[in-house]
Amino acid sequence: MKITLKDGNSLDIPAGQTVGSALSAFGLKLGPDILAAKVNGRAVDLSSALTEDAEVAPLLFDSAEGREVYRHSSTHIMAQAVKEVFPTAKLTIGPAIADGFFYDFDYERPFTPEDLEKIEARAKDIIKRALPVKRAELSKPDAVKFFQDREEAYKVELIQGLAEGQTITVYGQGEFTDLCRGPHLPTTGHVGAFKLLNTAGAYWRGDERNPMLQRIYGTSFPTQAELDAHLARLEEIKRRDHRKVGKELDLISISDEIGPGLVLWHPKGATIRLLIENFWRDQHIQNGYELVYSPHVAKLDLWKTSGHVDYYRENMFAPMTVEIRRTGNRLSV
Ligand SMILES: [Zn+2]
Repeated sequence: MKITLKDGNSLDIPAGQTVGSALSAFGLKLGPDILAAKVNGRAVDLSSALTEDAEVAPLLFDSAEGREVYRHSSTHIMAQAVKEVFPTAKLTIGPAIADGFFYDFDYERPFTPEDLEKIEARAKDIIKRALPVKRAELSKPDAVKFFQDREEAYKVELIQGLAEGQTITVYGQGEFTDLCRGPHLPTTGHVGAFKLLNTAGAYWRGDERNPMLQRIYGTSFPTQAELDAHLARLEEIKRRDHRKVGKELDLISISDEIGPGLVLWHPKGATIRLLIENFWRDQHIQNGYELVYSPHVAKLDLWKTSGHVDYYRENMFAPMTVEIRRTGNRLSV
């Protein structure tokens, strides 16, 4: 089996070897830096077996895909910690997001700041345990039974929504197992600095008719210094929040009577807006642009032609029916 490292080096490696051992054969040290690997462009676990000629590349924290594996494994660690501290909490889903991760749990009440401290302490303990993360494949009926036995109804619902005959993968670490496509870090000990940030309510599948879930946000980085820098950046963002600054400087306000997100510009805010608009207009004119104005609403047909209706209908305002007095026709815009 010919395995090529991304830099062009090739080695003949017996079939069935793991991706991790192939990377070692190229002289790469499998320390905490190597999180997973790409095989022919697909992200996989280091423990996955190589069965045919392939190009391999290590996945590190410096790539978006590497960070996703890292944060995704971090959210499994948080979920394990929640299940250890609050065994009646039910698992739902927990993705990696930009700069961190979250997990939604069905629990009888919102998690308090004291709960988060306990969960974070337990997660750090799980990291210290350096539990190997193991992938297993299950048939759909076996996967349903597995999560039914564990009284994880949301996982059962997710599995039932998957195609028949599809192989389902689960990942285990210690006593904790979660439904997941992967890939993951080789052990829980591969996570360096770990921090839970805040909680929020979220509906199952984003639908307000469904149960309200308890979401926990967190983040993780290879080193404490990187985590500290990120937390400092979050503080700076909070300090500059337009809702805070706008109120403190008497620039804008938002009123419940008018509606959330609908901004009232006070004289000072309106002055800033005017200056910016004038600057923007002058720059365009100086650079040879001409100005045009178009309406904010248009006939539905226009949004059909543009493709908006097909792709973004649920994010668009519903069409209005407008009376055209001159002809008596009704026009849907
Ligand atoms: Zn996962």
